[in-house]
Amino acid sequence: MRFVKPSRPNVYTGGTLDRAGHLREDAAWVERAMAGEAARYVVFWQGKTLIEGGARGAPRARLVRRPAVETAAVFLGLLDGVPVFAVDFSRLENPYEVIEAGEAAFADMRGVSGALPVDDATILATARAMLHWRGRTAYCSVCGGRTAPRKAGYVMACMACDTEHFPRTDPAVIMLVARGDFLLLGQSHKFPRERNFYSTLAGFVEPGESLEDAVRREVFEEVGVRVGEVVYHSSQPWPFPASLMLGFYAQALTEEIVLDESEMRAAGWFTRAQILDRARLGFDLPPPDSIARRLIDDWMGDEGGGDS
Ligand SMILES: [Zn+2]
Repeated sequence: MRFVKPSRPNVYTGGTLDRAGHLREDAAWVERAMAGEAARYVVFWQGKTLIEGGARGAPRARLVRRPAVETAAVFLGLLDGVPVFAVDFSRLENPYEVIEAGEAAFADMRGVSGALPVDDATILATARAMLHWRGRTAYCSVCGGRTAPRKAGYVMACMACDTEHFPRTDPAVIMLVARGDFLLLGQSHKFPRERNFYSTLAGFVEPGESLEDAVRREVFEEVGVRVGEVVYHSSQPWPFPASLMLGFYAQALTEEIVLDESEMRAAGWFTRAQILDRARLGFDLPPPDSIARRLIDDWMGDEGGGDS
């Protein structure tokens, strides 16, 4: 199996945000920073976040000054020395009443994330992941007691038994399976039928399993194909809602497809020519912000998967 280098960083990776983990320990500093003039806030509301400039084709994340309402914020880090926090205002009926949104409006970040500046995309991804985790950690999984944030929101501590719960991210393998000049792409029931897009296979890593074993198991479960060599490509945080995608190329040892119809709508072997000609053939590839698309584009190399 040839080694295919990532052509560029994945969306939601890189950037200059300094997570400044040591500052989370300093409750007095966090308090001062939150109240300071310089502080900026990423606001989420019912799964959406503030985006401006989209109409001009140059979307940006809108970071606002301290909202006019008390809230438990998560400290994301320092951006050029500016402390950046994340808050979730989903419970408010009208979040615009407590923030200076300017011309920004709440929007689904996935609609624009491929076009966002690198720092904006990584900050939004981090904020979304942290706020989702915190929202799901209101109660202690040991004793059922209420939890409260510590360490600038990076710990949820049980007020009854003092167990500390830490942010979690769920590893998932995502793999482009190849055999000679053919690529194995599939369509999950989760994909919108009308888009008719074909993507790499993917699945969650189970406890006690290596990444390579997870690749082989998932491919066999979903399409009945045996995989030999597995080569790492790159990773991508995927806060939709809580995954870390670990991307691989996998060498198929067998060809026959036996579809797991409970998970997959369709799967098949595709040639490069078919992938390049997909508009005429009536199918599409996954969205450009996804590592799935990067795996396909990088494998296609100079021919590229195209920009659509
Ligand atoms: Zn507890």
